[in-house]
Amino acid sequence: MTGIALVRMHHATEIPERVVSKVPEGAMTNLDDFTLLPRGLEVPFEGRVETCPACGRNGIEERPECGDPYFLHRQSSEMLGDGLRTDPFDRCSFQAN
Ligand SMILES: [Zn+2]
Repeated sequence: MTGIALVRMHHATEIPERVVSKVPEGAMTNLDDFTLLPRGLEVPFEGRVETCPACGRNGIEERPECGDPYFLHRQSSEMLGDGLRTDPFDRCSFQAN
């Protein structure tokens, strides 16, 4: 009778509650907003939160093996049958130095 248990991230490190909003239709789509995370925070599997050189908001620097580096601010992630698909819809390109 408990239904779905809400599991809070409560690790030893001071990770704030990750900003995840569920789409009401029940789809397994999460929205990750890295602009709300404090600078210096290590996000598992993503990287460290830094200040974007392009717009000044917080984000995570991504350096794809092929392609230009960019700062990721917000992304949606969707659980599909064959895995997790992420879609970075808010990001800034910047010049690597
Ligand atoms: Zn930016």
